[in-house]
Amino acid sequence: MSGEARCWVCHRSDAEVSAFADMETPKETEILQQMSQVTRFRADFIQSADVWRKGVPKELREFDFRFVVSNPDQFKSIRIANGLLGEIAAPSKLLGEIADAKKLTVDWLENAALVLRKGDGEVPGFGPLLPFEKADRDLLRKMVDQFEAKWRRRIGADENKGAEPSGYKLGFDGLKLIDGLEFMIAMGLLYYDVQAQLLDMARRKEINSKPKRGILAVSLIGYPPVPLCSVCLDVLREVTSRQFAVESEIPQQVTARHSVRS
Ligand SMILES: [Zn+2]
Repeated sequence: MSGEARCWVCHRSDAEVSAFADMETPKETEILQQMSQVTRFRADFIQSADVWRKGVPKELREFDFRFVVSNPDQFKSIRIANGLLGEIAAPSKLLGEIADAKKLTVDWLENAALVLRKGDGEVPGFGPLLPFEKADRDLLRKMVDQFEAKWRRRIGADENKGAEPSGYKLGFDGLKLIDGLEFMIAMGLLYYDVQAQLLDMARRKEINSKPKRGILAVSLIGYPPVPLCSVCLDVLREVTSRQFAVESEIPQQVTARHSVRS
């Protein structure tokens, strides 16, 4: 005997049942859809970033990034000649687009940065980080740390006020429109990368929490357990009103456990 347990009803092995029955949960499907959305939005963002770079009027390049982006309507009446695109009636549409993109990506990152850096707390729109593996939380921290080290700027305010020991500047402090735009684009890409990582973490957690599919040791209360596959068990549960108890994952383990004297 190979010792491999087969379902008492359909005679399939554990591997055969797993291959057949290991289906996506609705939550898994939803996460996968969100993941492909993030990939698509990231690609759209890169395309838009290109349009913004070319479209920033040179008359405004030296303006303060935060001022221009938070007041796009101020520039409605300005008509600007742009070497690349010809005359733009008003840059406010472009600035409004940049402001919207900033609101979506940068504002979220600014709120999430502290949590991602600490590896603990609630990530906005996602939930608590602590239930996830340390390696995943470390990776998120590294993404934030490396970004900040590269730009020598903090994404969001740190809880320790006072002088920043690293010498990093805070957010968009002192950035002109043209430089602030590059920083914003980089932050936007980090936003999508962090979203993708969070979704991947959620997907793996969902997969790991799925009920085991395969051969189980099942008993009708009062009878010794028999090997039954999870598919047949579901069917039996549906067509009978009897109570079934899952003793252990496979019958061999039941035997082994019973033979141990304590
Ligand atoms: Zn079966």
